[in-house]
Formats: sequence, structure tokens, C-alpha cells
Amino acid sequence: MKLSQLFTKTEREAPKNEASVNAQLLERGGFVYKNNSGIYSYLPLGWRVISKIAQIIREEMNAIGGLEMFMPALVDKRYMDSTGRWDVEVAFEAKGKNEDEARFTLGWTHEEVITEIVSKYISSYKDLPFAAYQIQTKFRNEPRAKSGLLRGREFLMKDLYSFHSSEEDFLRYYEKVRGAYHRIFERCGLKSFYTLAAGGDFTANNTHEFQVLAPVGEDTIFICSKCEYAENKEISSLTNGVLCLKCGGEVREEKSIEVGNIFPLGTKYTEALNLQFTDETGNKKFVVTGSYGIGLGRLMGTVAEIYHDKNGLIWPESVAPYKFVLIALEHSREEAEKLYQKLLEQKAEVLYDDREDKTAGEKFADADLLGIPVRLVVSPKTLKEKSMEVKRRGQKSFELLKIKNFDTLLT
Ligand code: ATP
Ligand code: MG
Repeated sequence: MKLSQLFTKTEREAPKNEASVNAQLLERGGFVYKNNSGIYSYLPLGWRVISKIAQIIREEMNAIGGLEMFMPALVDKRYMDSTGRWDVEVAFEAKGKNEDEARFTLGWTHEEVITEIVSKYISSYKDLPFAAYQIQTKFRNEPRAKSGLLRGREFLMKDLYSFHSSEEDFLRYYEKVRGAYHRIFERCGLKSFYTLAAGGDFTANNTHEFQVLAPVGEDTIFICSKCEYAENKEISSLTNGVLCLKCGGEVREEKSIEVGNIFPLGTKYTEALNLQFTDETGNKKFVVTGSYGIGLGRLMGTVAEIYHDKNGLIWPESVAPYKFVLIALEHSREEAEKLYQKLLEQKAEVLYDDREDKTAGEKFADADLLGIPVRLVVSPKTLKEKSMEVKRRGQKSFELLKIKNFDTLLT
């Protein structure tokens, strides 16, 4: 894409109404637009990042047999009544203009909805197990929506639901999801810690969160320095400095961001919505389920919190909106345009800064702010050597590469 065609503009100053680094950088770069507290629009650059994250999530969900689907955001009251979750605090109610009472909640989770849907199709042990997921907007009336993308009142979530004939089968799948989650976060450049946690509005059982260490995190966890066993402070009896019960290592307290949460749900939802199957011996049993969430915006915000410097973002290549930013300095536009076309022909993801009204300094500053992994500069000086400058974001030094060898960039 040519930067001259991008309607968004970068900003030099951080927005006054944003306290968190992720929101400041993402707004300055024109990745997101804040419509309201906890309500953001994803602009073209930001949407490319979200799409990259969504693609990674899809690949890992599909690899463990997840089937993608899509459910309504308007969730009928009867679903939530069936489990007593209509009156939870986070819910936004929705009603027609001339109606007195809300008939819907804006979906903040979908256990009830999917359980009813699958009950139309599942009757025998032969129909199990299976898992389905969606990537969809969730709505939660968050009282503390002030951490930028980390806590939205409306946010994209990947929610996976799995259905099993036994607790053992469920546990096997739970471990598979655990592996898939670690891979997702790792592919996004994040080290995540598998953390024992509470069940919130979902279950009376313990659940597991995936926590990324970060000072801005709203969570506090205790983590073993040696074996990495971790517990959320909310439920933990550990304290800073005690010895780990598993391995004897030292436990330390850390601030962290919950990027994912997986829930063993047992038969809570299948009993409430009467989802039964007939087992091999002809007995009727309730289906055992789990649910598994990841917030895409929170994930993007977490990457921004971890990967930046004073000049802007430093996207890991896997989630960067573009891999290359190509900068044409004065009197080298023609050569730069040719290089741009060649890169496009090779399907390279390149943002071409062809703006005529910007100085070299402004272009360099924008390339840094946007955090594009590889910067290519074509100038009269480099053209003397029939070359371009190649520099990685976050590194100081650059190298010269012959333009005719541009394809070595693509491997
Ligand atoms: P928190 O404790 O941070 O409020 P939660 O435990 O209520 O989150 P879950 O229901 O576990 O959230 O949601 C699954 C995932 O969705 C979370 O792990 C997180 O990645 C994401 N998520 C939850 N709430 C939000 C939110 N308000 N904004 C952005 N992402 C969210
Ligand atoms: Mg959670």
C-alpha cells in the first residue's frame, strides 16, 4: 500500500485521555481510534494486525480440530435464565425501543447458546467429541475500561467450546488446547505462563489462565522461578519468596496480563440446557464441556506493551501490519516505485512511503512509530551504488543491498 493513500495520519504527541502505553502508541500510529472509553475502531493498519493475530489463532484452533462458526451477538434472555447468568454485572441489556423489558443481552460469552445449538445434533457417544469456535465481538460493561486495548467494553474474542463423552476425554483435549494456546502466544512473540485461577462467572471449579508478565498488568500472579508453576493471587495461598511446593524453587510475585483463559465446565451447562447423549451401554449421560477464550484486542495491546521503545512500536514480524516499509527520498522516486512494484509482484507485504510533502526525518520517524520490522530506503546516495539501505526496526545499523538482489529480502 502507498502511504499517500492511507487516510489515517500519525501524531507526534500522545493523546491526553490515554494513560496506557498500548493505547498511546496505537492511537498515535493510527492503528486504532477511540470512540469511547473501552470502545475502539480498528483502522486499516490496526485491522491488519488483528487479521494476522486471527490467522494465527485460526491455524492453531484448526490444528486441534476446532471448527469455525459464528453465533449471534444478541443473546436471548432464556439462554442466560437457564443458568442464572442474566443478572450478572458485566451484561449490557438490549431491548427494542418500544419495549419495556430487555429480551436480549449483548453476548458476553456463548456457553448457553452453543450448548442449545449442538443439542439439536448430538444424541449418541458416536457424535462426540468435537469442538467449535468463533471470532466475534463480545460486550462487557467493564467498570475499569482504562487500559486501552487491554480492557474493552466491546472486544473481539476467540471462544472455543469442546464437547466430550467423559471427563477423561475432556482432560485430554484440555491439554491439547493448553499446547495450542502456548503456541499462539509464542507465535505472537509472547511468553505465557499457565496459571491456576478462579472460575469467575463461568464455573465453581478452578480454571487456567495464560499470563504474560508486564508491569501494566491488572493481575498479580505467584510464579516459581525454577519450574514456572504459577497461581493467580486471587486464589493463591503462596506469598513472595516462599519455596515452590512442586520443585523447591523460589516463588516470586509478578504483575501480569491475562491473555487467555480456559475453563473446565463439567456438566454445568449441559445439565442446564439438557444436552445428553446415549453411551455405549445405552445409558443417558450429560455431555462434558470446556470453554476456551482469547481476547484478540488484548493480545494486540499486550504485544504493543512488550514491544516498543521511545520511538514507537516494534512489531514482531508475525503480527506486523506490513513486513517492509519502503522510503523514497527526494529524486529517487522512480527507482523506489520500480522496487515497490517488484516487491508486490513477489507478494511482499510492503508499505511504500511515497509522500511528497514529508521530509526524510518525518518519514523515518513514522517508520519507527509504526514499528514495521524492515525499513528500506532508496536515496540518491544509495542509488549511486545501485543499492538500498536495509535496516531492522530496533537496530541502529543498516546495510546496503543491491537493488537487483532485492529477492534475498524475501526468504
Ligand atoms: P478479566 O479477568 O481480565 O476481566 P475475564 O477473566 O473476565 O477477564 P474471560 O471471560 O476469561 O475474561 O475472557 C477470555 C479472554 O478474553 C480473556 O483471557 C482475555 O484475553 C479476553 N478478555 C476478557 N475481557 C476482556 C476485555 N474487557 N477486553 C479485552 N479482552 C478481554
Ligand atoms: Mg478470565
